[in-house]
Amino acid sequence: MNRFHGIELNPATAAFLAAPRKMLIGGEWVDDLSGATLPVIDPASGEAFCHVPAGESADVDHAVQAARRAFESGEWPRHRPVDRERLLLRLADLLEANAQEFAELEALDNGKPVTMARHVDVALSVDFIRYMAGWATKIEGATMELSAPLVRDREFFGFTRREPVGVVGAIIPWNFPLLMAVWKVAPALAAGCTMILKPAEDTPLTALRLGELAIEAGYPAGVLNVLTGLGHTAGAALAAHPGINKVAFTGSTEVGKLVGKAAMENMTRVSLELGGKSPVIVLDDVDPAVAAAGAAQAIFFNQGQVCTAGSRLYVHRSRFDAVVEQLAGIADGMKIGPGIDPSTQIGPLVSKVQQNRVLDYVRSGLSEGARAAAGGAGGDGPGCFVKPTVLVDVHEDMRVVREEIFGPVVVAQPFEDLDDIARRANDTPYGLAASIWSNDLARVHRLIPRIQAGTVWVNCHNIIESVMPFGGFKQSGIGREAGRSALELYTEPKSVIMML
Ligand code: NAP
Ligand code: MG
Repeated sequence: MNRFHGIELNPATAAFLAAPRKMLIGGEWVDDLSGATLPVIDPASGEAFCHVPAGESADVDHAVQAARRAFESGEWPRHRPVDRERLLLRLADLLEANAQEFAELEALDNGKPVTMARHVDVALSVDFIRYMAGWATKIEGATMELSAPLVRDREFFGFTRREPVGVVGAIIPWNFPLLMAVWKVAPALAAGCTMILKPAEDTPLTALRLGELAIEAGYPAGVLNVLTGLGHTAGAALAAHPGINKVAFTGSTEVGKLVGKAAMENMTRVSLELGGKSPVIVLDDVDPAVAAAGAAQAIFFNQGQVCTAGSRLYVHRSRFDAVVEQLAGIADGMKIGPGIDPSTQIGPLVSKVQQNRVLDYVRSGLSEGARAAAGGAGGDGPGCFVKPTVLVDVHEDMRVVREEIFGPVVVAQPFEDLDDIARRANDTPYGLAASIWSNDLARVHRLIPRIQAGTVWVNCHNIIESVMPFGGFKQSGIGREAGRSALELYTEPKSVIMML
């Protein structure tokens, strides 16, 4: 188990894969109560290379009890803000020290190129934990002078506190397994919450390894629990559990709605980071080569399995043909291969299910009259590959234009003017992100307020920053992760009114 696709694994990665994998509940590594397991599949070969426990609702109960105990008693509530900061910094240091192992696990489990996993997934995760560590000591309330008009003969004093929301259930997707885990774990632990983390069934490994590092960093038992299992069993049980105070979800809009409804039954706080169909808007002053390189990065990064993927490309009619031709050239030239190979630029999609879903979309587009300027098919062999695909001759009511494909497939269309593009950019139920490509400041500024999206990039796409709030308008979600706003998701304000 130390060579995959002819590449020698780091000894630490091989050692992790050689040991039996268990879940982390209450500081113990345990099997699922029923003993059931799930295979972990290498999407570059379609073969299972290890197994993890298939946690179910009884395991969720245990994990919630462990997290509740840790939240209410024991060492964790006695941790001061500086202690919480120090623990997170230690966790970040450990992650950084084990970066290559994490990158290799992510490449094998998800399929993504290992070079990207190291320099994007792991590097951003380390940065994010360090950024959130700083917030542990900066959770503030305010003092207020009160008027209390009905009790004029007494003095009053008011202040607000921000308290940890409590036990958090986090359900995360498979596209950035480590980074999405860290986006939830770091602010929750900075705020003093405890957590049950359920990774996606397709990509459980880095969450389990993160659990090991949390113990090594010195987190008390039960503060971070990692429960592997299926979404419709373990995930659904977690979202509906009356013992949790907040559910943090990233994934599809469809499942996000189920999770939101389940949480609402118990009035559990909920934040949802959901799908997108983000436009890339190229105005008429942009060099076609720059636009094509930007559009390629916007859609092909992480095989297009990015919630903010620039999956609708709109180019001003005067430059449309030039941009599409160069984008197709880039797509055709990308090196496809197993993620674990450092020279790979496009890895497999995460699973057969996802490959089939994406190829179905491509077929539906082609059958409705679209033309593939590049790609348009899967790869040969058992791996879950899809060629980088550029579809043209599409129209607004095709499924490939309207629905989130979540693969390396972009639909390209020309537009006429700012009014036309503002209307078409927003003609979607989603509102996660958009990018505008132009150096005409006045037109860019005029367009920004007209775009219904949680993030607007200008002359770049998919730049993710710890300090910037991240989340969606419309059906792309509720709440903002990252930045100061992440703390608001994991704290509950309390108003205190004192009569002196
Ligand atoms: P998904 O079903 O929404 O999965 C996200 C997470 O929710 C996973 O941990 C999943 O567990 C869990 N889950 C599934 N059903 C659940 C339920 N009934 N209750 C509670 N949790 C549940 O996403 P997917 O199936 O992996 O991908 C489907 C589509 O979602 C993609 O094609 C893409 O369009 C979109 N997607 C968006 C994002 C994003 O970042 N916005 C990320 C991933 C996927 P399992 O892994 O066991 O199913
Ligand atoms: Mg996998």
